[in-house]
Amino acid sequence: MPGVRADLEALTAIPSVSLDSFDQTQVDLSAEAVAELLRAEGLSVEIVREGGRPAVIGHLPAPDGAPTVLLYAHHDVQPPGDEKDWDSPPFEPVERGGRLYGRGAADDKAGVMAHIAAIRAHDGRPPVGVTVFVEGEEEVGSDSLATILERHGDRLRADAIVLADSTNWDIGTPALTTTLRGMIRVVVSVRTLDHSVHSGMYGGPVPDAITALVRLLASLHDDKGTVAVKGLRGGNASDLGYDEARLRLESGLLDGVQVIGSGDLLSDLWTRPAITTIGIDAPSVDTASNTLAASARAKVSMRIAPDEDPREAYRLLQEHLREHTPWGAQLEVTLDDEGAGFSADASGPVQDQARAAFRDAWDGTEPVDIGVGGSIPFVAAFAERFPEAAILVTGVEDPDTRAHGANESLHLGEFERVCRAEAFLLDRLGRMGS
Ligand SMILES: [Zn+2]
Repeated sequence: MPGVRADLEALTAIPSVSLDSFDQTQVDLSAEAVAELLRAEGLSVEIVREGGRPAVIGHLPAPDGAPTVLLYAHHDVQPPGDEKDWDSPPFEPVERGGRLYGRGAADDKAGVMAHIAAIRAHDGRPPVGVTVFVEGEEEVGSDSLATILERHGDRLRADAIVLADSTNWDIGTPALTTTLRGMIRVVVSVRTLDHSVHSGMYGGPVPDAITALVRLLASLHDDKGTVAVKGLRGGNASDLGYDEARLRLESGLLDGVQVIGSGDLLSDLWTRPAITTIGIDAPSVDTASNTLAASARAKVSMRIAPDEDPREAYRLLQEHLREHTPWGAQLEVTLDDEGAGFSADASGPVQDQARAAFRDAWDGTEPVDIGVGGSIPFVAAFAERFPEAAILVTGVEDPDTRAHGANESLHLGEFERVCRAEAFLLDRLGRMGS
C-alpha cells in the first residue's frame, strides 16, 4: 500500500482538468503517467484519442482458458472550483484524519490506482487476462467514448467489466452499484415582449418574462415537491434503512428546511425522477433597472429513472413545459445534454464472486446493492457495446468524499479494502474459467 499511496499522490498532483478552459497539456501528462504505471506492471500500453482527450489502454493476455477482465477508470478530473473553499491546495495531496485530500484523490485517480494495485498484488501475473482502460474525458461527458469503443472494441472485449467510479454505502460497508439514473438537461427560454419596457408605464397588464419563467419552473413540482411532469417512469428502491437524519447530515440541509417528495428517500434519490433549476439568465440584482424583462432563460436538469428512455423523457418534459407556459408567452426548449441510466442484472456468477471478494476484503461484512442518483453515461455505453459481459460498478468513494466539491478526499482505510477486494476478485474470476 505505501507504493500505491505514493503513486496515487503523484497522479493527484497533476491538474488534469478536462474542461476546455483548462490547460489540456496536463491531461496529456496524466495519460502519460498512467501509461508509465501500467508499463511498469508489464502491460502493453497504448494511448488512443479519437477526436477527444487521451485514453490509456493497457493489456495483459489471459492465461490459457482464463477469462479476461476489463478494468475501467478515468484520469481526468473536475475543476477545483474556488480554491478559497479548500482547506489545502487541491493539487497538493495531503493526509488529514485518515483521509487523503485533493482534487481527483478519490474521483477517479483512486479508481486508477485500485486497478494497478490489484495487478501488483499478483506481481503483474494475475490469473485472468486484464485490459485496463483509463478514459481522459469522463468529467466532460465522454464525447469520444462511443468512437473509442467502436474502433478499439476488439481489444476491449472482456467477460467481465469492472467500472471503479462509484461509491460504497458507508465507511465499513462495501457496495455494488446496480442502478444509475439517466439525465436530460435543457435550456428553457421564455419571451413576452420584443423589447424591455418601463415597469411603471406598462407594469400591470403586460407580463414580464422573468415572472412567466418562474411560474413555468414552479409548475415542475407539486406542493409537496414531487415532480409533476406526467408519464415519467419511477420505481421503488430497496429499503436499506436510510433515514432523514442521515440525509440531512450528508446533504447539509438547513434546520427547518423540509425534505420534499414522497418520503421514500432512497426511491426519490435513486429510482424516481428529480428536476432542478441549475441556472437562470436574467438581469442581475445589482444592475437591475425598473423594466419588464423581454426574455429570460433557465437551465433545467432532470434526473430520470434507470430504465427511462432519455428521448421519451425529453418529449414528456417538452409537453409539460408547453402546456404550463403562462399567459401565452413564447417558449423555446433546447436539449443541452442527455444520458441513459443503467439497471444491472444484479444476479449472476460474476456478481456473486464480486460480493464474495468484498466480504473477504471487509472482514466478513456483507456488501449491499445500491443505486446512485447521479448519471454515469459511460456505463450505458459499455452495456450497449458489450451486452454479453457482466458489468460491475464498484466504488472508491464514501458519503464524505465530496467528489466534484471543495475538499474532495479519499478514506485511506477503505481504499486499502477496495484494492484488496479487486485483487481477490481477479483471483476468484481466474478460478471460474472463461
Ligand atoms: Zn468519476
